[in-house]
Amino acid sequence: MSKVINPVYDVAVIGAGIVGSAIARQLGEYNLNVVLVDSRSDVGDGTSKANTAILHTGFDAKPGTLESRLVSRGYTLLSEYAKATGIPVEPTGAILVAWDKEQLDVLPSLKKKAEENGYKKTEIVDEAYVYHHVPDLGPGVLGGLTVPGESIICTWTTNLALATEAVLRGVELKLGHKITSVEKGLSHTTLKSDAGEIQAKLIINAAGLGGDYIDQMFGYDRFHITPRRGELIVYDKQARPLVKKIVLPVPTALGKGVLVS
Ligand SMILES: Cc1cc2nc3c(=O)[nH]c(=O)nc-3n(C[C@H](O)[C@H](O)[C@H](O)COP(=O)(O)OP(=O)(O)OC[C@H]3O[C@@H](n4cnc5c(N)ncnc54)[C@H](O)[C@@H]3O)c2cc1C
Repeated sequence: MSKVINPVYDVAVIGAGIVGSAIARQLGEYNLNVVLVDSRSDVGDGTSKANTAILHTGFDAKPGTLESRLVSRGYTLLSEYAKATGIPVEPTGAILVAWDKEQLDVLPSLKKKAEENGYKKTEIVDEAYVYHHVPDLGPGVLGGLTVPGESIICTWTTNLALATEAVLRGVELKLGHKITSVEKGLSHTTLKSDAGEIQAKLIINAAGLGGDYIDQMFGYDRFHITPRRGELIVYDKQARPLVKKIVLPVPTALGKGVLVS
């Protein structure tokens, strides 16, 4: 009986976060030999498990960008996928809150931006509306912008569902394989890790914050990721009635700011 040692896969996807797992699941539909590789001991153990869990409409993306197109398409696809698979989603809606005159003046441009992104359901509301829906906000609210389509989605279940379906479709999952270097050949590439080598004809870089290192391993220097560390404060379920909607600040040049979900 012959034993296949180190098969040459058609495709190796590096990174089993939400992006790599979704790609692997999709590739599993085709007659391809696919491997999904991650350095961690479980899927979704990078950024994908520890985010704010908002299923974004894409209302605040920069119009006309790839991000805007993908977030808006992802919203539709993930909403359908969640319904089909039972991934928990809470359609809470969001309110973006203005706390001073400057922020209040920005609301019309945010509404316009949402419309340019194809999301036409936002509304500018007064402070009474905001306090009616989030009565426990502190004093000083001047107004807000509603984004009724924003929802909360279970990030763990989503990543697990995508990776599990990938495996059920024949994708091989290799955890605990940190790719440290690559060797490019004529017919295939060898990925080297402390847990062994993986050979594949095509490599997909879905390594998230490690994506630029993988790019460099292939001899490129096309992009650099400068991550900023965020901080999440997780409250007990008893605090849930305090905030029934996602509460967003007016974004600044540095990011989306402190939000409550
Ligand atoms: C604080 C915060 C809040 C956020 N909130 C939201 C939100 O509410 N809604 C939303 O849609 N998005 C949100 N995001 C963004 C979202 O979490 C990310 O866009 C998404 O998780 C990225 O997924 P990914 O698969 O690209 O990366 P990751 O989940 O990080 O996956 C990359 C994987 O690659 C693996 N890897 C890296 N290098 C190597 C290597 N050399 N060898 C093997 N494996 C490797 C890592 O172990 C990791 O598992 C938030 C992000 C942050 C930081």
